Amino acid sequence: MADAQDILSLCKRRGFLYPSYEIYGGVAGMYDYGPLGTALKNNIIEIWRRLYTLGEGFIEIDSETIGPEMVFKASGHVDEFADKMVKCKACEEPYRADHIVSDLHPNAGALSEREIEELIRKNNVVCPACGGELSNVEEFNLMFKTTIGPGSGRVGYMRPETAQGIFVNFPNLYRYNREKLPLGVIQVGRGYRNEISPRQGMIRLREFNMMECELFVDPEDKTWPRFGDVAGDAIRLLTNDGQEMEVTVGDAVEKGVICNQVLAYFMWFTQEFLKAVGIDGEKLRFRQHEKDEMAHYAMDCWDAECLLSYGWTEIVGIADRGCWDLSRHATFSGVEMSSFKRFDEPQEIERDKIKPQYDKLGPMYKGKAGKIGKAMEEADPENVVDGSITVEVDGERFTISSDCFDVVKVKEKVSGVRRVPHVIEPSHGLDRIIYSVLEHSYTQREDQTVLRLPSAVAPIKVGVFPLMARDGLDDLAAEIDQELRFGGIETYYDESGSIGRRYARMDEIGTPWCITVDYRTKEDGTVTLRERDSTSQVRVRFHDVLKVVQTALCGADLSEFVINE
Ligand code: AMP
Repeated sequence: MADAQDILSLCKRRGFLYPSYEIYGGVAGMYDYGPLGTALKNNIIEIWRRLYTLGEGFIEIDSETIGPEMVFKASGHVDEFADKMVKCKACEEPYRADHIVSDLHPNAGALSEREIEELIRKNNVVCPACGGELSNVEEFNLMFKTTIGPGSGRVGYMRPETAQGIFVNFPNLYRYNREKLPLGVIQVGRGYRNEISPRQGMIRLREFNMMECELFVDPEDKTWPRFGDVAGDAIRLLTNDGQEMEVTVGDAVEKGVICNQVLAYFMWFTQEFLKAVGIDGEKLRFRQHEKDEMAHYAMDCWDAECLLSYGWTEIVGIADRGCWDLSRHATFSGVEMSSFKRFDEPQEIERDKIKPQYDKLGPMYKGKAGKIGKAMEEADPENVVDGSITVEVDGERFTISSDCFDVVKVKEKVSGVRRVPHVIEPSHGLDRIIYSVLEHSYTQREDQTVLRLPSAVAPIKVGVFPLMARDGLDDLAAEIDQELRFGGIETYYDESGSIGRRYARMDEIGTPWCITVDYRTKEDGTVTLRERDSTSQVRVRFHDVLKVVQTALCGADLSEFVINE
């Protein structure tokens, strides 16, 4: 298995990835994508985007990356989004507390502060850098704080996930969707987390790329129309009671291992996406979160984990967030965040209603009594706090005690009900996916690196070479190169060094096909087409090249184009 050093040095040498601000010594947890890395990233995003938009009919938005404090108060991040930290008392180096005891516990992420401290003391864990004594565990909030506007301005935060931009737009997006559920919304963009001590290359970054989907569903209907199509497919699970199993998606739901069809369908969907972009299905599993490991918003959560040289690593989190986000934003903003479910026929329902005692309101509030009474009738009895209800009339707030009203049962004919939708969220860490794809496609052939990337994600699709940079071979190769590029296919034209070296350079960056123009091209109008993984070569017609490459990139049979020797 390749280790991270092999991958990161290949990435830097060949232009996939550069440590950010390297000329100033670099910053831990920050990387820039080079030309090949950017192309690989864009290709993966495009596959993901198309699966969700074209495949599932979801919509895409692009929201702000900085938000006012209130948004992240509502989401719970300002108060809850923290990791546990210890510091060396001697050299002051900070560490993630759960990481420092990860060898001593199978799931240290789920331990409390006290449990971690006990493990540290019992096992005499010291600072890995200087051997110094470690501090007690404290919470460190991961949010990057800033101000919006000059001076002290208003407090703002860099978003730690793209999701909140979707939640705060729910009323707009629900309207856009003609007020129908399910409503699937995707977003690709940066997230920012002030990680305590990022030491694992691309796995733990402070600014990273996310691809998130927020799927709003009826809380009482978590079935999925295409579930039956995938129910027989296998999925590998590690449940939160430690059972490892390979089961069908259908069985997992039937036996209650995965709590609903929507969650299970999108776990399967994630698995298929990951395999399509080059993750080895044998090194992929879904691990269920333990109850006290779950994020503050989650009802159930499964991580897609990849087996990497770092060990099993989370690359996608798939959570049933319930109604947490929309309910919180409704409370904090005062804006309705619900959907309306229309009944087939109007139904009679019984509900609680506030009935004002107008004879008491009259003398107390005089001319305003009528309007206050009306506001009380419209208020939700659930908002009665300590026996009083607060209403707003003409911008003025009135708190009315219970001796001025009764809560009575009324029967009403209604055409539907309002409900806060539940959210199923597949949240992808794009940089971790890219790293996993690189590690899983990294192979060695006779001391040469070959990246076995799927054609669809390979940054360069075809290497185009003249055998010699003379005798018109270069002109013919340049013609092919231009035809392919103008046909929308990324190429790399190379006329320097031996042909073997040129193939090796393409193998190392995962280019699936190479075309060589040689002297025979001038005689019979054919060129060589070489495939990366088998290294097999066939001759095809010069004039068929675009069609041949298009066919090859689709993985279809090329025999109709092959010229027999
Ligand atoms: P979470 O919201 O914590 O479930 O994160 C969603 C996904 O983002 C995870 O599955 C990871 O793949 C990725 N992720 C989280 N934190 C980081 C980080 N610091 N650096 C890179 N990727 C991250």
